[in-house]
Amino acid sequence: MPDSTEKPSAPTRRKAGRHRGEGQWAAGHLTPLNPNEQTKKDDDGLNVRTRIETIYAHRGFDSIDGADLRGRMRWWGLYTQRKPGIDGGKTAILEPEELDDSYFMLRVRIDGGRLTTEQLRVIGEISQEFARGTADITDRQNVQYHWIRIEDMPEIWRRLEGVGLSTTEACGDTPRVVLGSPVAGIAEDEIIDGTPAIEEIQRRIVGNKAFSNLPRKFKSAVSGSPLLDVAHEINDVSFVGVEHPEHGPGFDVWVGGGLSTNPKLGVRLGAWVPVEDVADVFEGVVSIFRDYGYRRLRTRARLKFLVADWGAEKFRRVLEEEYLLRGLADGPAPRTPVAQWRDHVGVHRQRDGRYYIGFAPKVGRVDGTTLTKLADLAEAHGSGRVRTTVEQKMIILDVTEDQVGPLVEELESLGLTTRPSPFRRGTMACTGIEFCKLAIVETKGRASSLIEEMERRLPGFAEPVTININGCPNSCARIQVADIGLKGQLVTDADGNQVEGYQVHLGGSLGLEPGFGRKVRGLKVTAAELPDYVERVLRNFQEQREDGERFAQ
Ligand code: SF4
Repeated sequence: MPDSTEKPSAPTRRKAGRHRGEGQWAAGHLTPLNPNEQTKKDDDGLNVRTRIETIYAHRGFDSIDGADLRGRMRWWGLYTQRKPGIDGGKTAILEPEELDDSYFMLRVRIDGGRLTTEQLRVIGEISQEFARGTADITDRQNVQYHWIRIEDMPEIWRRLEGVGLSTTEACGDTPRVVLGSPVAGIAEDEIIDGTPAIEEIQRRIVGNKAFSNLPRKFKSAVSGSPLLDVAHEINDVSFVGVEHPEHGPGFDVWVGGGLSTNPKLGVRLGAWVPVEDVADVFEGVVSIFRDYGYRRLRTRARLKFLVADWGAEKFRRVLEEEYLLRGLADGPAPRTPVAQWRDHVGVHRQRDGRYYIGFAPKVGRVDGTTLTKLADLAEAHGSGRVRTTVEQKMIILDVTEDQVGPLVEELESLGLTTRPSPFRRGTMACTGIEFCKLAIVETKGRASSLIEEMERRLPGFAEPVTININGCPNSCARIQVADIGLKGQLVTDADGNQVEGYQVHLGGSLGLEPGFGRKVRGLKVTAAELPDYVERVLRNFQEQREDGERFAQ
């Protein structure tokens, strides 16, 4: 059984210093300081795959070891899902295991959001055969299933891996999916194609036991699009396309972004990296996180806390001197994008004269049958390439001009519009109480009905607006950076009853002028009041805004 404390390499062996209390391996804290760290030390999360295939899949759910069930399963994209029928009001008084269903949520990583129709068809088939038709497109370009039985996992892996997909490190304290521009390599206005860098990171880092015991999750992104289309401000490390005046196209490095509690925007290191060096720098940053990241408290274990304490200058110095063993060139910041939507929805010309077509499932919800039909459409009208986006949208690439109209019509008939209302286009929702054990309130169903209500009540509203809905204080749907962010919690209604509702955050954004929304003290709405409240806010904005003013200003 591997001992994860053996992993840090030479630069990490140093005496306890200033950060003695934070549980950093580099400060000599190799003895686990909390149960999560102990679980990871006891056995590498990646090793659970063998036990699933040889024991649990044959003997069933009840045979699963507790530390595997609630810990290591995540290293292969598996979380237990919430037992149906347990409402948010009871969550606080139940032990986590009382919320466990014997089914799992399974996340398939789709690095760069790149899919072939062969892969999409397999994803659709698995959804229909093993996941009761579920298949959500997440805001990290993944596909997420529900209702997965442990008995089916060997067959699911066989099918996914047969077409080059995987669930390796889709969750857990690991380097998770690498986000990428969904129009990499085809967009007319692209600065640089980050695809080779993503492929090298996948090859070198994912599933590598040198990086499979991080203090917490590690989120990353690579995009050479001037639209800044991967939410680079809120990843642990992001590589953003820039044109260097002397060296040409390359990437600007950002570190330490993240939402949830204590949200922080990433900071620039001021360093320019050519595409062939991105994987080296990625490896350096993830190594710093492994070695210097805080492990004592889970609530302080994300990279953003280390970056906040060190600052960009020290972080870059440690990266260059201890890990890369060379200096990085200084480089420019990315330009502020002009477009207000970054989701690639609609019909757009590619640099080769063909078109890509972005469309909007409602809050990322599709199903296995729809995905299979999409694969057919992408083959009939395109070249067989499909993409997922970080806005829970999808794109079909390589459509010739004469096929644009027919494809748009076919998509509409599947309920996948290329011309969504601003509400459908700008609303995101996390998994919520339907399946998530941490949830306090319902999200996706409520977001869908909110979209329909706003389309009915405000048919002429044409402003870009983002409405992000979370089922709990975590931020899987990025509430702090939405125009209207809604954080699920129990609230008191007019009759004094505890009911599902939301804390409101107003005026957050990414891209043009990134910043967190203001949490308006005491501003909470019940779920029943939500459509009236959102309508009021949007009508006020329409009536009072000045020329050119955006919602977040
Ligand atoms: Fe679950 Fe909360 Fe994340 Fe929503 S925000 S998916 S409820 S943990």
